[in-house]
Amino acid sequence: MRRRWVGGNWKMNGSLEDISSLVDGMITGLAGFEDAEVVVFPSFVYLPKVKGQLSGSKIFFGAQNVSQFDHGAYTGEVSASMLADIGCKFVLVGHSERRHVYGETSEVVAEKFSQALSHRLTPVLCIGETLEQREANQTEQVVLEQLNTVIGEVGVESLGRSVIAYEPVWAIGTGLTATPEQAQEVHSFIRKTIALQHEALADEIQIVYGGSVKAANAAEIFEMPDVDGGLIGGASLKANEFVEIVKS
Ligand code: PEP
Repeated sequence: MRRRWVGGNWKMNGSLEDISSLVDGMITGLAGFEDAEVVVFPSFVYLPKVKGQLSGSKIFFGAQNVSQFDHGAYTGEVSASMLADIGCKFVLVGHSERRHVYGETSEVVAEKFSQALSHRLTPVLCIGETLEQREANQTEQVVLEQLNTVIGEVGVESLGRSVIAYEPVWAIGTGLTATPEQAQEVHSFIRKTIALQHEALADEIQIVYGGSVKAANAAEIFEMPDVDGGLIGGASLKANEFVEIVKS
C-alpha cells in the first residue's frame, strides 16, 4: 500500500511574517493527521526558519532546487550537502519553471537527482509536457525522455528513493487542471514504464499529480488509482486551502 504524499511548493513567495502564519495554520490544521506525508518547499532563505517552526510537528520541509555540482566555485548555487546539513529531507528537481524559464535540460535534472541521492535527500522528480506537446500527441514521448534520462544516470533501483510528480506544464499556475482521467492515463503510463524495468518498484513508487489542484478538485484527482497525492503550488499559500487538500 503506497503512502499518500502532498507537497506545497511556495515558489518565490512570502516573507518571514507570511510564512510564520502559513506554517502555524498548517500545524494547527493538520494536528493529529497522519494519513499522508506532508512536505512544504519554502525558498532557501526561509528553510532554517521553517525548520524551527516545524520541529515537533509531522510536516517535513524541502528545497525547491539544488545544484548539479557537489561543491566549489558555483556562485549563487546551493548544494545537496548543504541541504542535508540543515536537515532537509526532500528537494524538487526538474520543476517545469526550472526547465522552461532557466533552460534546465533533462541531463542537468538527472545530475541534480543524482546529487540529491548522494546526500540522502529524496528528490521529487517533476516531469510533464507542454500544451503544444500534448496537442501533438507527444505526451508519452516527452515523459518517457524525462524519466529515462534520470534512469540512465542513476539506474532504475535508485528511482525507488524518489517521488515522481507528473505536472503537465499547461496546468501549472494556469487554473487549467488535467481531468482525473487525463491524470490517471499518464500516471498509469509512468507506472507501466517503470514496471517494464522493475515491477516491484513500480508498485511502490509514489506518483503525485501537480497542476492547479485546489480544495475543490483535489478529491476527484486523488481518488484515481495511480495518483498518490499532489504537488500544490498556488493553493499551498493558503493554510486552510492546503489543509483541505491534504485531508482529501
Ligand atoms: C507547481 O508549481 O508545482 C504547481 C503545481 O503549481 P499550481 O498548483 O499553482 O498549478
